[in-house]
Amino acid sequence: MKYNIAVIPGDGIGPEVIEQTMRVLEEIGRKYDHEFAFTKVLAGGCAIDATGECLPKETVDICRSSDAVLLGAVGGPKWDHMPGSERPEMALLGLRGQLGLFANLRPAMLFEELADACPLKPELVSGGLDIVVVRELTGGIYFGEKATVETPEGLEAYDVEKYSETEVRRIAKVAFDMAMKRGKKVTSVDKANVLESSRLWRRVVTEVAADYPEVELNHFYVDNAAMQLVRGPKQFDVIVTSNIFGDILSDEASQVTGSIGMLPSASLATGNFGMYEPVHGSAPDIAGKDIANPMATILSAAMMLRYTFGLMEEAEAIEGAVQKVLADGYRTADIAKEGEDIIGTQKCGDLIVQAIQG
Ligand code: NAD
Repeated sequence: MKYNIAVIPGDGIGPEVIEQTMRVLEEIGRKYDHEFAFTKVLAGGCAIDATGECLPKETVDICRSSDAVLLGAVGGPKWDHMPGSERPEMALLGLRGQLGLFANLRPAMLFEELADACPLKPELVSGGLDIVVVRELTGGIYFGEKATVETPEGLEAYDVEKYSETEVRRIAKVAFDMAMKRGKKVTSVDKANVLESSRLWRRVVTEVAADYPEVELNHFYVDNAAMQLVRGPKQFDVIVTSNIFGDILSDEASQVTGSIGMLPSASLATGNFGMYEPVHGSAPDIAGKDIANPMATILSAAMMLRYTFGLMEEAEAIEGAVQKVLADGYRTADIAKEGEDIIGTQKCGDLIVQAIQG
């Protein structure tokens, strides 16, 4: 079967980690008899340099006509002087909006081999961690009405948090469907003791839960959720929350697992379409040095195989290969402890490809 993938290498370490990920996908294609057809497109700083825009129309068109999008990272100091609305990172908001990517999935998994990287007490995470944060991505305060206005008392600024029933229902369904394939537990996070939008959120999530009698639902206020994530992270399976709360909680959950170089993510639209990218940024401080960890991007490709293409065995083959490389003791600099052998980006890709070959 042929799968068309739009590839956005982007800036900084983006092209390096994407190159290794494409090699891994090609190896999966050879082993399982699939064809992955890659079309590279520009977004971010490199797109500004080449076309004057961070997200050229051609990029959006090619992404739309592909089966999925694989993205490295965008941004860097070269473009930091630009006004907010023209910066490379605006390409991400543009892609989310124009591709209808309303659900952001951020797994926070602790690999047993990297348990030492977890900043929490070992007894809190013994036996590993496996949490997914499902964040609403195209609504709420980041997209609500906003303005800075002059008043007789000085400047005043506001951002409006607004959610419709439809928006809450569709993200809740993503969370419950995911929970059905996992631990059958959903924690919905809001601030319903204070916010009207949260009260609607809670009501709609509770209504959706009625269609999933096997899934246990509980509700946490966001302040309590932030605390519980470091106090008892093992109580969570799927966390579903709004754009702003999810932004904060998914970073917190992922840090519980240690290195940013290990964390994949998916942003899904209605249907099977999705954009897959590592959680980390373009890491300009290490770009071009062959030291970046490509595992987050490679694990994002595994999510693509699972969620967009429905290729479960192939996804597990990638995850198993990453686990084997870690179990064999290989570490990139970001996850190495003192005395451990350090490998580079390219070598890490080589080892994962070899592990897939078996
Ligand atoms: P960053 O994630 O790029 O880097 C933070 C730290 O983690 C750095 O020390 C970096 O060297 C390290 N790091 C990140 N990824 C790594 C990897 N794969 N292997 C080893 N080490 C890794 O975050 P930042 O420094 O805040 O941002 C740098 C640029 O990236 C900025 O322009 C920012 O706007 C952009 N950014 C882009 C995205 C994205 O494209 N999705 C996300 C976040 C930040």
